[in-house]
Formats: sequence, C-alpha cells, structure tokens
Amino acid sequence: MNPPDHGTPHGPGRFGLQWLAAMALAAALPTFAAAQAPRLPIFDAHIHYSHDAWDNLPPPAAIAILREAGVRRALVSSSGDEGTQRLHALAPELIVPSLRPYRSRSEVSTWVRDQTVVAFLEDRLEKSRYAAIGEFHVYGADADLPVVRRLVALAKERKLVLHAHSDADAIERLFRQDPDARILWAHSGFDRPDAVRELLRRHRNLWCDLAFRSEHGATGKVPPEWRALFTEFPDRFMVGTDTFTPERWHYIVEHANWSRAWLAELPPALAERIAWRNAEALFGTWSAAARK
Ligand SMILES: [Zn+2]
Repeated sequence: MNPPDHGTPHGPGRFGLQWLAAMALAAALPTFAAAQAPRLPIFDAHIHYSHDAWDNLPPPAAIAILREAGVRRALVSSSGDEGTQRLHALAPELIVPSLRPYRSRSEVSTWVRDQTVVAFLEDRLEKSRYAAIGEFHVYGADADLPVVRRLVALAKERKLVLHAHSDADAIERLFRQDPDARILWAHSGFDRPDAVRELLRRHRNLWCDLAFRSEHGATGKVPPEWRALFTEFPDRFMVGTDTFTPERWHYIVEHANWSRAWLAELPPALAERIAWRNAEALFGTWSAAARK
C-alpha cells in the first residue's frame, strides 16, 4: 500500500488523508494487517466427514471452514463414503477423495474380518473416482487377513494410495503384499522419530502424516530430533487435522495456523513441502487426471 499523493509541507493532501485513515485503521485492527500477509497454503491430508457430522455441519459449512483455514486441498475420507462425495460435489478442486472401508464409525475394529467390506469397496470403486483407500485401521498380523489383502489388491489395480493407521509391523506386511504400494502412514504410526526414520529409510514409497500429534511443534518450536527427521526426508511428511469426531472440524482453522507457526521454524522450502507440496506431489497424478 503506497500513498498516491504525498501532499504538501502544509498538509497531507487529498489522498494522503485517506492513506492516514487507512493506516490508523490498520494499526487499530491487527487482524487487518495480518489478513494482508500471504498465508502459507495447507494441504490437510487427514480429514473425515463422517455421518455424525452431516447434520450440524452441512457440506457448505464444512467447505467454508476449509477455505477459512487457507486449506488449498484436503484428503477426505468418511464413514460412510457419502460424506466425501457430498463435499467433492461442492468443491472438486478442494477435495481429494479417499475411500474408507467403513460404512459407519463402529466398523473401525471389525472391518478386517467382515467379508461384506469387499463388496462395499468394489461397488464404490465402480461408481466414483478416488485418489486413495483409507484411512483404515489395521495392526500386526491382521494386515494379512483376506479382507485386507483384497483391499491392497484393489488399490494396486487402480493405483491408489493406501492411507494406513497402523503399527510398523502392519506397514511391513502391506509392503510385502505389494512392494510397489504407495503408503501414507497415518499419524506417522504415533511412533518415535527414530522408529519412523527406520521405516522411511527402508521404504521409498512411504509417506507420513503428522495428524493428531503435536510433539514436533508443541511449543511453536521444532525439537532437534524432528528437525533432523524432516531434513533427512524433506519430501515425505505432510500435515493433517484428523476430524475423527464432528467437534474436531472446529479445530481445522486452529490446526492450520498452529502448523504455520511451527513450520516457520524450518527453512521456507522445507516448510512449503511439509505444508502442501509433498501431498500435492503424492496426489498430483490423480488431481491432474481429475481436471481433464
Ligand atoms: Zn483419521
């Protein structure tokens, strides 16, 4: 903002008065000035819009929250899938759809032994387009159960990313079923930085989201062990809110702002990668196809 007229030594000039008024307003309202600064875009890689969120937060309101947060794109999955489809229909450029194998929240722990899940997945995959399958929960040897194997095979056939909420053992089993799989490890497994490093070193097709954990930026600072991990693997991490209950939709804006605060501690190029470029790269192929 530049004053268009500097006025004379005797007065501020016609436009100068307007300029002074604008500056006074900006000083009085810090948010006015803050809103003018470019915000780091966020790709929120862990959003759910499940059945119990739809009534209190209709699709237009959900989209409005994502936009208010400065989210340029979001990986969305829902129990049942209709929630994802409703958001995607409203804002296809914003919503990257992922297919969750749950028709309702109650299936989180039963789906691995529920054969009817296979027909549900096959049916949905015929009807709509997705970038990923997940987020699904599976641990240890359960990852080798027939329903999970079929899910991995479907993802392989359709070149979909697997969004897995799993322990390291289950991640290894998923990669044994499909060594070319691309896996987004939800919450980085809630694992310690050294354990995350070990798995990242072994698998070049493994990415990690940082959803629902805070130790990498709790005080607005990035601890040395996390900084080292982000530096060693600059292209593997992404942020996410995880709206696993409807109330968490109201944290999306706060989460985006908090993410910007700790990311500001990192070199700008690395911060941009974690904020949105890594997710954009992982889901870019799908996005490009979707725009045709
Ligand atoms: Zn989740």
